[in-house]
Amino acid sequence: MRFLLVFLVVLVIAWRWRAWREAAQLEKKNSNTGSTVSTEMVQCRQCGLHLPANEAVTGKLGRYCSHAHRLTMEP
Ligand SMILES: [Zn+2]
Repeated sequence: MRFLLVFLVVLVIAWRWRAWREAAQLEKKNSNTGSTVSTEMVQCRQCGLHLPANEAVTGKLGRYCSHAHRLTMEP
């Protein structure tokens, strides 16, 4: 009877460890695919520089790399 109890405890620990390990691997896999998600690139209307859309300055006519370039095209 005692042997059965020890066996069950070991079985539960192994099962929990395996579930934790699979969850960790899945999380690692998800973070890897997350880092490969491409960022939308836009081109500055004034100088033609390509930059990430979230860093671009949006004007009435388009997107720019800086406020200075927006002002030169849209006074
Ligand atoms: Zn520019």
